[in-house]
Amino acid sequence: MILQPVKRRPLSRYLKDFKHMATHCAHCRKILDRVTLTRAGVLVNKAGIARLDTQIDEAGWLAEKPLWAALCRFCGDLYSKEQDNFFDIIGFKTYLLEQTEMSHGTIREYVVRLRRLGNHLREHYRPPQDAPEGFCLATLSEWLPKTSSNNYLIALRKYDQFQQREQRCRL
Ligand SMILES: [Zn+2]
Repeated sequence: MILQPVKRRPLSRYLKDFKHMATHCAHCRKILDRVTLTRAGVLVNKAGIARLDTQIDEAGWLAEKPLWAALCRFCGDLYSKEQDNFFDIIGFKTYLLEQTEMSHGTIREYVVRLRRLGNHLREHYRPPQDAPEGFCLATLSEWLPKTSSNNYLIALRKYDQFQQREQRCRL
C-alpha cells in the first residue's frame, strides 16, 4: 500500500469553510448574516484570518476547531469590546437569552442600555466609603445619567435579577 502524503492547507482556508458552513450564531443562535469569528473568545478580524497561513492537516484542524466560534455581529462586538465593562455584559446577555422569554430585539435593547450605563459609570462613579462590595442596586441607582434615567433604572433592575440568580447558583 502506498501511503498518501497528508494533505495540508493553510489555517485560513479551513476557517473560510468554517465560516461558510456556520448558519447560526454560536452564542445567541440567531441566523447568521454577517459572520464574526472569535478564537478562544477573542475576536479575529478578516485581515487577521488572512494572515493565518500555517499549513495544517485535518487532524490539526480538528484540534484547532473547538477554539473557534462563528458569531453574529452583535455578539461579536460584545466579545471584543465588553470584557472590561463595568458590568458583566456577556453574562447578563446569556442570562436574558436562557432564562427569560424576551425577544432578540428586547434583549438587544437591554444590553445596549446596560453597556451605555457601564461606560457612564466607569467614568463618573466614585464608590462611597461604606459601599458594599460589588454590585448594589441602591448605591448605583443614585449615579444614573440625568437623561433617560428611568430606562437605565429598568435595565439596572434586570441586571439585579441576574446578579441575584448568579448568587443563588453559586451557593
Ligand atoms: Zn449572536
